[in-house]
Amino acid sequence: MMSSVLKANPIHDVDIQLTSAEAWDRVRRRLRAELGEDVFSSWFGRLELVEISGSMVFLSVPTRFLKSWIQSHYIDRLRALLVEEFKDVSDLSLSVRGALGKPAQRPSVAHTTEQTQTERSFPERNKVDTIALAEGKPASENDALTGAPLDRRLTFTNFLVGKSNALANAAAEHIVQNTAGEAPLYNPLYVHAGVGLGKTHLLHAIAHETTAQGRRVIYLTADRFMYGFVSALKAQTALNFKERLRGIDLLVIDDVQFLQGKSIQQEFCHTLNALIDSGRQIVIAADRPPTDLESLDERVKSRLAGGLVVEMGPLDEGLRVKIIEARIASARQHQPGFEVSPSVISYVAKTIVSNGRDLDGAVNRLLAHSTLTGGTMTVESAEIAIRDLVRTREPRKVKIEDIQKLVATHFNVSRADILSSRRSASVVKPRQIAMYLAKVLTLRSLPEIGRRFGGRDHTTVLHAVRKIEGAVNADVMLKDDVELLKRMLQD
Ligand code: ADP
Ligand code: MG
Repeated sequence: MMSSVLKANPIHDVDIQLTSAEAWDRVRRRLRAELGEDVFSSWFGRLELVEISGSMVFLSVPTRFLKSWIQSHYIDRLRALLVEEFKDVSDLSLSVRGALGKPAQRPSVAHTTEQTQTERSFPERNKVDTIALAEGKPASENDALTGAPLDRRLTFTNFLVGKSNALANAAAEHIVQNTAGEAPLYNPLYVHAGVGLGKTHLLHAIAHETTAQGRRVIYLTADRFMYGFVSALKAQTALNFKERLRGIDLLVIDDVQFLQGKSIQQEFCHTLNALIDSGRQIVIAADRPPTDLESLDERVKSRLAGGLVVEMGPLDEGLRVKIIEARIASARQHQPGFEVSPSVISYVAKTIVSNGRDLDGAVNRLLAHSTLTGGTMTVESAEIAIRDLVRTREPRKVKIEDIQKLVATHFNVSRADILSSRRSASVVKPRQIAMYLAKVLTLRSLPEIGRRFGGRDHTTVLHAVRKIEGAVNADVMLKDDVELLKRMLQD
């Protein structure tokens, strides 16, 4: 740890380096004292300081899961401690480090992991200009409100419509066509869908189109909103930040499930209210419906749910075919020899059922395969080319009841015990494991899981999930047990 701090820190003065190592040590000690050894070692044991650059502290963790957990549960606390312990620091960036212990890419606040994946699938994809609110201002002053970069490919033209996304698409087009300055009909428009089902694509399409109409648009991820707000507070330009946010025509916020922190939520709520009241459009995307945003307070949730809430479902087979064909057509612009027969397309569409991102990955593999071998692609060769993606396709739908039965049998208790209020250790542990499995294997929300476990509170479920997450890290036997149960439920 020390050595990575010393090496990576661009500041060369040894005293300052030691000071940062000490400050980092203090942050860790304070976290441990606040959270207790268990929680600390589960979530922060593998958190590492990468470097300090300007007012940013760059941290890394080994998995995406840890990153999103810290992001959704502890980011405010972590930021506050860093700001207190490090001189001149105002924010942090958390990234997932690669196998070599280095961050997979230079961490950047504006990029979500998702965007990074998209970049990987389409390395030639161009990033266009960011939507800056106040043009001509120096970058530093403008930083807080510079939207995340818009991806040029994510347009309405490229957004293919099927049953699952027709309503969301129609709502998006309605918003874009409302140029007459009338009060928006659907405000906010709240789109939710699982990963890779086109939320970001649709949001970018809206932002592109409205920008082209000369309207003032800001596209932000929730991370970026928080960052903007916190750094504006630091720089004592919060008022400015608010005024500028409120001076726009359209605010687009992606991945709002990551919004955290009391004061930030309050600010977010004020911003929503101010924009909605003055007839400006807001578009939000998240991976779940407003009622399931566990970390948000009720007022924010109800405001988010107060407009039009639309879900985008899984891509049906016809839509998958259309997306694959479109991807092949665009790849052919660079690789004219890239031929894929209808039977191969149909095979891929039937096999890759998960999401648009995996479809992108499949076409990239077909392309690589055909470039390398030069031969015609058969269903057999396609099967080999996309084999690794097939394994990661969406797991079978698991029922909470099945989880309860299997876990009960496995631990030699009854399902009634699991649902009961008995607190003996022999029942508590299986119950917590079952709740944990319900959270990771189904799409049910915490309150819903609580209800299905004998009417428990969602915080009890959350506690169980954390507990088991922590315990499997520390206990190899338990980890194997849980893995085994997962496999049995999914096969
Ligand atoms: P999300 O934000 O919901 O996780 P994205 O918008 O990043 O998903 O979509 C993942 C990939 O799938 C992107 O490359 C996107 O262009 C593609 N995709 C998803 N839905 C569609 C669609 N309806 N038409 C065309 N491409 C789509
Ligand atoms: Mg997205």
